[in-house]
Amino acid sequence: MARDSVLADLGAKGADGGAAHELTEAVRRYRIDRAPVCLADHDPADTGPFTTRDRGLARALLRAHTAWLTDRQRALAAQGQWAVLVVLQGRDAAGKDSLIRHVMSGLNPQSCDVTSFGVPNEEELRHDFLWRCQRHLPAQGTVGVFNRSHYEEVLVVRVRPDLLRAQRLHPSLVGPGVWDQRLRDIAAFEDYLSRNGTAIVKIFLNVSKEEQKERFLGRLRNPAKHFKFSPSDIRDREHWDAYTEAYEAALGATSTPEAPWYVVPADRKWFARLAVASILVHTIAELDLEHPAPLLADPEELQAARAALEDA
Ligand code: ADP
Repeated sequence: MARDSVLADLGAKGADGGAAHELTEAVRRYRIDRAPVCLADHDPADTGPFTTRDRGLARALLRAHTAWLTDRQRALAAQGQWAVLVVLQGRDAAGKDSLIRHVMSGLNPQSCDVTSFGVPNEEELRHDFLWRCQRHLPAQGTVGVFNRSHYEEVLVVRVRPDLLRAQRLHPSLVGPGVWDQRLRDIAAFEDYLSRNGTAIVKIFLNVSKEEQKERFLGRLRNPAKHFKFSPSDIRDREHWDAYTEAYEAALGATSTPEAPWYVVPADRKWFARLAVASILVHTIAELDLEHPAPLLADPEELQAARAALEDA
């Protein structure tokens, strides 16, 4: 679907329409089109065409985007040919959970599944590294959201050698080339999925080290949020640069036209949510979904069905 018709379809008119257009342009710049990737070139505090004063407009646009997604999800389910996989990655406190709540809120839970991937259990560790993710891939007609994903295998596992040891792979399989091999395996896996009808879009919520600290301190100040803080958050902060390198390698090696990565600025949550909604709108618009032809297209048959129901 052409970009302008997506914007018209969104129902964003006047000032909203202009802002939606500028948003689309801004979001396009977040897509990773070439390697190498340098995260220092991506400003986590960017808010695209908006300033903090525009937050009301941003909220209105988010509503328009989520309404559009809700409508298109119905078409996705009715047509039943495509699956959509949204991969969500980010450092601790990047805002993944709240983003899912705000952006996916309108979707029908019957055709949208969110799977969170934490530390693998014993059964998962005894299988190849893609196994557990494959079990949660979305079926045709549905949307799957991975809150963390197979990418943890080239991020946290790369940064922490004890996690690779826990996988009990034979030493001949874990030489220095293991990370490049895994990245190639992931790219091939996603290529395979896209050739089998899964549209993939991958989001890296890019939060700054300062903003992450503020969010952690906020959690510690508020007893209702203590449960969200874990001592491992501090440990991972100490490995900030190692994570940056792992992310840069992963984004550069696996962003393809079929399964692109977007580096979304995440220091301002209100903007990150809107940017992700816009990315999803444009990903789904590319599928050119049609509502399937009604079984009773003939007006006379429709009239007969109505009459039969009224008499029943
Ligand atoms: P979140 O931080 O996403 O809100 P949790 O607090 O449950 O969720 O943390 C999940 C943890 O699991 C993270 O520290 C993440 O790095 C870790 N994890 C995810 N996948 C793997 C994996 N394949 N191997 C080891 N650790 C993993």
